Amino acid sequence: QESSDQALNQIEQMDQKHVFGTWSYQSEVEPTQIVEANGVRFTDSRENTVIDFSGQLMCLNLGHSAERVEDAVTQQVSEAEYVSPSYTTEARAKLGKKLADVTPGNLTKTFFSTSGTEANEAAIKIARFYTGKEKILSRYRSYHGATYGSISVTGDPRRLASEPGIPGTIKAPDPYAYGSTLDPMESLDYIDEMLALEGDTVAAVLVEPIVGSNGILVPPDEYLPRLKEIAHDHGALLICDEVMAGFGRTGEWFGSDVFDVTPDIMTMAKGLTSAYQPLGATIVTDEIADHFEDNMLTHGHTYAGHPVACAAGLAAIKTYEEENLIERAADIGRYLEDRIEDLADSHPSVGDTRGVGLFRGIELTQHPERREPFGEREDKVSKGSTVLDEVTATAYDEGAYVANMINTLIIAPPLTITEDEIDEAIAALDSGLSVSDNAMSR
Ligand code: PLP
Repeated sequence: QESSDQALNQIEQMDQKHVFGTWSYQSEVEPTQIVEANGVRFTDSRENTVIDFSGQLMCLNLGHSAERVEDAVTQQVSEAEYVSPSYTTEARAKLGKKLADVTPGNLTKTFFSTSGTEANEAAIKIARFYTGKEKILSRYRSYHGATYGSISVTGDPRRLASEPGIPGTIKAPDPYAYGSTLDPMESLDYIDEMLALEGDTVAAVLVEPIVGSNGILVPPDEYLPRLKEIAHDHGALLICDEVMAGFGRTGEWFGSDVFDVTPDIMTMAKGLTSAYQPLGATIVTDEIADHFEDNMLTHGHTYAGHPVACAAGLAAIKTYEEENLIERAADIGRYLEDRIEDLADSHPSVGDTRGVGLFRGIELTQHPERREPFGEREDKVSKGSTVLDEVTATAYDEGAYVANMINTLIIAPPLTITEDEIDEAIAALDSGLSVSDNAMSR
């Protein structure tokens, strides 16, 4: 502690002493203060200015300091900083309408909360109330949030410390072509069979249409439409968790749009406000909305539909629309894809590259033939840094911040990023990947 304390500035030391770090052994937490941020770049207290190649936690879809959203927040605070959810505001009503417009099909009515995990909690409760059934089927390679319901339907190792969690959760295999012997479409046969064997007891199948933090897993085109059919054949709803994939990240409004699927319930957060305010949303079809006309929606929060968060959401969506950022993400996403392929060609430790739009993953391997990951998945829940941590630390020193999760580098920059900025970040990653190349087993 002594030596690292000396390297921290006063704010960082105060923070280290009085604020819990997330998902960490507290003795290992070394908070870094961001002192300036603009567009796709931020500067830390050690004067490193880097490209935010993951948009912080894959959420800053407009980058830093987007004026329209900042102004909307300031104006809303001066007009109505807070009203109880039993009152409405122009921002909340208009955002509800706007979400009905930008989401696919007959998704119509929204419950607002303040985070991705709460959006999923609401989805789980709504699915249970609507169907009268209890179980939720989700997949192993998934993350749905940290509160008890959402962590219980999460499949990745982050769930383990919170087990057994809420009752009635079932986990199924995933469409993970690179690291699994199971063919992605065959994995659907398992889900079909599991649902049959559970009898008529499953309320919903909950999936990320494109898996985010568990490795940017893009299923085959036919996967999600077939999953919806399978769920419906067994009387279960389809819930799509769009918390990370939503709001242009994929070059479409939502991950579900990539596959032309309208889920029964869709959950959102992150890009909804471009993370300028904490806001979660759970939108349901008109059939489900109708059910609650005469059945109580026994759910709510003090901050449900918070006016300032809704104003930020409305301004963010207007910016996506008026600056054509969704189409832009699709176009520049192709450029990003080509640059990532160049990296794959020159770095033997790149095992697989996946993604769509500005939502891309680079999975590393220490042995390409055996497709062996660097370290086991448990590495993320034990002490010490992994090869991937060293790759991203080197990339950071060279000028790009890149998140790494479960053996995959996750690239999800602001939708405003330019080709030149992509080139800069790719050059930094190029240096980072020499670390994993050198760490390969021979
Ligand atoms: N769902 C997905 C797909 C996510 O990626 C996340 C967070 O990363 C969540 C839910 C949880 O969101 P939050 O951290 O806002 O609770």
